[in-house]
Amino acid sequence: MTKNLAYYINKFANLRVSRSSGVAPNKPILLLSIIELISQGEIRRNQVPLSAELIATFLKLWSHLEAVRKPDIGLPFYHLTSDGFWHFEMKLGFESLIAAKIKIRTPTTIRQTVEYAYLDVELWSLLQNSESRSVLTHVLINSWFSDRTQDIEQLLQVNAFAELQDQLQRSGGKVYKPEELEDEQAVIVRDGAFRKIVVSTYNQRCAFCGLQILDSLSQNIVDGSHIKPFSQFYDDRINNGLSLCKNHHWAFDRFWFTINDDYTIIVADNLREDSPNAKTMREFRGDRIILPSQQQYYPRLDSLQWHRQEFLRRAA
Ligand SMILES: [Zn+2]
Repeated sequence: MTKNLAYYINKFANLRVSRSSGVAPNKPILLLSIIELISQGEIRRNQVPLSAELIATFLKLWSHLEAVRKPDIGLPFYHLTSDGFWHFEMKLGFESLIAAKIKIRTPTTIRQTVEYAYLDVELWSLLQNSESRSVLTHVLINSWFSDRTQDIEQLLQVNAFAELQDQLQRSGGKVYKPEELEDEQAVIVRDGAFRKIVVSTYNQRCAFCGLQILDSLSQNIVDGSHIKPFSQFYDDRINNGLSLCKNHHWAFDRFWFTINDDYTIIVADNLREDSPNAKTMREFRGDRIILPSQQQYYPRLDSLQWHRQEFLRRAA
């Protein structure tokens, strides 16, 4: 059978969904979320990881389209593989899970084991074209949410993840209560938003060494890290964040260096370093870290003080 537009119209109208207690809208909502991110330019190649952006979009659509059930993106992300056009690229070392037909259904296990999902190349190329994309979007809406046609059109215009980031950026971020972190999906979205904001606040640069590497998809090599650890303080304020390359993130979390109130660098005395081709950490002693352009996002002094105390405690 030729995998053309008609083929996928038929697939989208006849998704294999659970009907045990009414039609489960998981798969159509996941597909609408993916199509929305493609049209917004957020998904630019045929690789769909279970990202914070995708979860935020899925949750937005779900909250408007399904009143009774709780959202769980893990279910359609996994079960869509049974519809024939959705495939997994596993992370190294996890390839055998698929062959063994082990079900990978929670967002966290999917993120640990699946590098990304990808669509049939024929479907991917149809979704690059705005006309066929619109046809497939309407097939989903008309087949699964025929009473909500108007609402969905408007909803698809809203970029939920970008809105969340804007809102957090304006408010300077947030300190969470533990009960706000019970839902795994909300945690992934929150974490993704924090990291993205911190990294962009530092212009995708390592605050310690200045490294900046971007690829053609604007993916970069730095992490948005917490100064006071999130697991203890739930503090996602931007001024508790620091953008660091992988090496210096690792070193900071192990208190191999810390930062003074005047933002100069203190490096531990007990490191044996050999770095023939790049500056060693000790050569950064006394340098000021790279700071964000806006002063309100400079690392907060109480966070730095906490980190310095831990640094000294370990050095003692
Ligand atoms: Zn660095």
